[in-house]
Amino acid sequence: MYDQHTAEVPPAVPPARPAHEATTVERGSFCTARCSCGWSGPARRSRDRARKDAEDHRTATA
Ligand SMILES: [Zn+2]
Repeated sequence: MYDQHTAEVPPAVPPARPAHEATTVERGSFCTARCSCGWSGPARRSRDRARKDAEDHRTATA
């Protein structure tokens, strides 16, 4: 009889999706998109643009 020692520890289930909470940060007259993952977008002169950067990042990493 074979004694199989193949008791592998099941891998921890990774989170389905890393949290990407992108926000816009205003710096002087510039606005930068920032994410909780550490990503930050380029400085924009318009907040709408920065928000778009944040949205693009979130969809690109989804
Ligand atoms: Zn992110």
